[in-house]
Formats: sequence, structure tokens, C-alpha cells
Amino acid sequence: MASFGNHIGGEWVSSEAFTTNINPSDTADVVGEFARTSRADVDRAIEEAAHAFPAWSRSPVQLRHDILKRAGDELFQRREEMGRLLSREEGKTLAEGVGEATRAAQILFYFAGECLRLKGDLLPSVRPGVGVEITREPLGVIRIVTPWNFPLAIPAWKIAPALAYGNCVVFKPADLVPACAHALTEILVRAGVPKGVLNLVMGRGSEVGQAIVSHQKVDGISFTGSVATGRQIAAACVGATPMKKVQLEMGGKNPLVVLDDADLDGAVECAIQGSFYSTGQRCTASSRLIATQAIHDRFVDALTARMRALNVGDALDPSSQIGPVVSETQMRADLDYIRIGKEEGACLATGGEPLTRERAGFYLSPALFTEVQNHMRIAREEIFGPVAAVIRVRDYDEALAIANDTPFGLAAGLCTTSLKHAQHFKRNAQAGMVMVNLPTAGVDYHVPFGGRKESSCGPREQGAYAAEFYTTVKTSYVAA
Ligand code: NAD
Repeated sequence: MASFGNHIGGEWVSSEAFTTNINPSDTADVVGEFARTSRADVDRAIEEAAHAFPAWSRSPVQLRHDILKRAGDELFQRREEMGRLLSREEGKTLAEGVGEATRAAQILFYFAGECLRLKGDLLPSVRPGVGVEITREPLGVIRIVTPWNFPLAIPAWKIAPALAYGNCVVFKPADLVPACAHALTEILVRAGVPKGVLNLVMGRGSEVGQAIVSHQKVDGISFTGSVATGRQIAAACVGATPMKKVQLEMGGKNPLVVLDDADLDGAVECAIQGSFYSTGQRCTASSRLIATQAIHDRFVDALTARMRALNVGDALDPSSQIGPVVSETQMRADLDYIRIGKEEGACLATGGEPLTRERAGFYLSPALFTEVQNHMRIAREEIFGPVAAVIRVRDYDEALAIANDTPFGLAAGLCTTSLKHAQHFKRNAQAGMVMVNLPTAGVDYHVPFGGRKESSCGPREQGAYAAEFYTTVKTSYVAA
């Protein structure tokens, strides 16, 4: 069996303990065994990052640009192979896997360019003979913690800006997807990231994660994952000495509102892609579908028909449109919510059944609940699987009120042909990202990403806004 170690201080190092990782489409297929990092190795990775920081923070931006560009080139050239690895490890369909590998390469290219564009400001002082200079400096040692559902793109959109702006990184990927993390780190190292600047430590969050959060030499933590873990990390950051800068991207329960005047086929397509692609395992998934009176039944009928025709199968089979659920634990959680929805009195219109395929895997037919009330758990809690809930409402005003009545605020979608409603929704939806006549789950990589309420805390990710987290501002007063 292939065995994968950590990358610490410029070297690939083995570990005393390992965890194995399986293919969710075929549980007999073991992807490999991966390091289970000890506390001593975590400390060493942080020390190496802190040691490398002074030189890297002053390195020429041309050098950083060239490294990110080279890494992007290799990832782009190997996107098919990397996409296959991702599909095998995480269960995303092959098209989505290759798409994500391509996206990760584009992110590396984007931040290669951003290295050259970091701006400051010159302002006049209120005092005579004084000039004010505002500059951005690297934050320091950054701990990057990522979830399993975008195993290449999310690490890329955190590691790339961290390196571009002169920071050193300790990268702790989700324990379900270490092979992708290992492959991405290898590419960056081959592209020339100097010793100690990027360190990979694999293992369980509860073991490795906590140790990194509290370490004195960590300056900032960029986290994407669940609200529960995000809260623990935030509390540890505030309790640590010194306190850490923190960026948290967390869950979602995203509404997609379908109004009477919507194009029906377009709305159904938005729901299919938004609710069920990536097996519904996206923070931006449209897990609450809110339909007004006159279109409700037609929308449910057309959506149900499309869902029944979806091909759920092995992620590596190009004909599969929906892959497996990522793990047995997630499968159990999804099935629990199916049971809860029924107990709450919602109607299971289709799906929600474990499926048998040629090879044993975590296959679940996409599920749709109708007659859902917004107070039900299936309408309020993030399920993170192929399960969507339809809520029937009178009109646009009620739809907007229900759309906003959620603890989360990541993405919100509207399907309509009314410009007036589109404009109103854009201004009044309580979400960080609003999509009109588009699935909630598709975003660009060069513009800000993030939400409100329980979904996000701290500066935005992606695009030029990423500098807000990965740099610290210095204001210098200079008397002439
Ligand atoms: P998770 O919170 O279980 O784990 C996320 C990461 O945190 C993993 O690397 C894990 O090992 C680590 N971790 C766990 N416990 C820790 C601890 N005590 N200290 C430090 N680190 C710890 O989340 P997950 O199951 O991997 O991912 C699914 C969640 O991620 C969903 O809620 C989803 O909405 C969210 N997500 C959000 C976004 C976004 O940008 N808003 C994007 C993708 C996924």
C-alpha cells in the first residue's frame, strides 16, 4: 500500500502512526496510508515555518510569482490525473474532479499575478510637514485548515494568497482527503517553494488541529469547515497568547427562491445543479427551495422527474452524474435527516434510499422533501448531502422573509423574470453571495467569497480581498 508522510522543513518525513483512506465509490479500494502527526512534529512544522518567515517575507515578488505560476502550470497540465485522484478520494464525479483541479490551477495563476499588485496608500497628514504611508506586510505563520469537500480548490485558495503575500504556512488538510493535499504540496514544492515555507501536517483535527491553534508562533488561522469546529477555533484564537487573527468560512443552508414568473426549465436546472451536484456536499448547496403558489406544483413535478433520471454511480465512471456520499459517517448523517424529515411531517417526494452498485460504496438517491415548514430541522440545519427541502409560500414577500429566516447567510438564489424582484432581492437577501437565475453553488475564483451570520466570520476569501486576511496594515508617519 502506498504510504504518504508529512512535509516539514523542506523534507518529506515519515510518521510513527498512519491512517488509511478509502475510495467512497468502492470501499475495497484503499487510496493509501497517511501520516498521523504527533504533537512533536506539529511543533517542529511551526518552528520551521517561523524560522523561514524572515527571509520569505522579504523575498522578491517576482520569485513568489514564478513559483505560483510554475505550480499552476504543472497542476493544469496534470488536471486529468489530479481530477481522477480527487474523484477516487472524495467521490466527486470525474467532470467535477477535473473541473476542480483546473480551478485550483487558475487560482494559483491568479495569485501569481496578485503578487505584483499589492497596493498601499499615501495620504497627507493633518499635521504640517508630515506624510502618512500605509503599507501591507505579511501576517506571519499561518495555519491553514481545510474541509474535505473541495480538497484541491480550497487549499489552493488559501495557500496561494498566503505565499503570494509573503507568509509561511502550516497546512492541515481534512483527514478524509490527504492524498489530494499531499499531491498539491508536492507540486508547490517542486515549483520551488523554499524549505520551511510550506509545511504539510496530516491527521485528525481533534489531535493535530488543536495543537496548532494554540501555538505561540502561529499568527493567523484560516479555517473552512463546520460551524462547530469554527467556534472552537475562534475561542482558542482569542484565548491564546498572543491572540491570533482568524478567518472562518463555515456552513450554509442556502435558499433558492423560485417565483411564479420564473423560467421553469431554468429554475429546475438551478435546483439540480445547486442542490445535488457534488452530491449536495457544498457549503453553497441550495438545500432550501422556496417556491411561490402558482409555480410550486409544476416546479416540484419537473424537479422530481429530473432527479429520478439522475445517474448515481461510481465517481470514476464518466456516465455518473452524482457520485457517492464521502463517507460512512456522512451517509449515516444523511439517512438520519431523511428519518427526521419524515418524523417532522414533511413528505418525501423522491429519493433518500441507499443504492446498491457493482462495487460497495456510499450511494444515496437524491432526496426531495415537500410540504416543509421553515421551523423544521431539515429546513434549518445543514445536512451536507443530496437532500433538499421545498417550502411553499404565497408570494415574493413571504419568500424573501423565509429565505432570510435562517441562522446561516452564505449564498441566496432567485429565479425570476422580474427585474424589480431581482433588484430587490439583491439588496435585501441576507447573504454574502446572491445569484439571480443561477445555481447558488457556482462561484468565480477572482471575486470575494464568504457570507454572514453563522456562515462566515472575519475577512473575505478570494480575489484581491484575500489581502485583508493574509497581510497586516502598517501606518507610518514621516516628518519631512
Ligand atoms: P470539519 O469542521 O469537521 O473539519 C474541517 C477541518 O477542521 C478539518 O481539517 C478537520 O480535521 C479540522 N478540525 C476538526 N476539529 C478540529 C479542532 N478541534 N481544531 C482544529 N481543527 C479541527 O468540517 P468538514 O466536515 O471537513 O467540512 C464540512 C463543513 O465545511 C460543512 O459545514 C461545510 O458547509 C463547510 N464548508 C464551508 C465552506 C465555505 O467556504 N463557507 C466551503 C466548504 C465547506
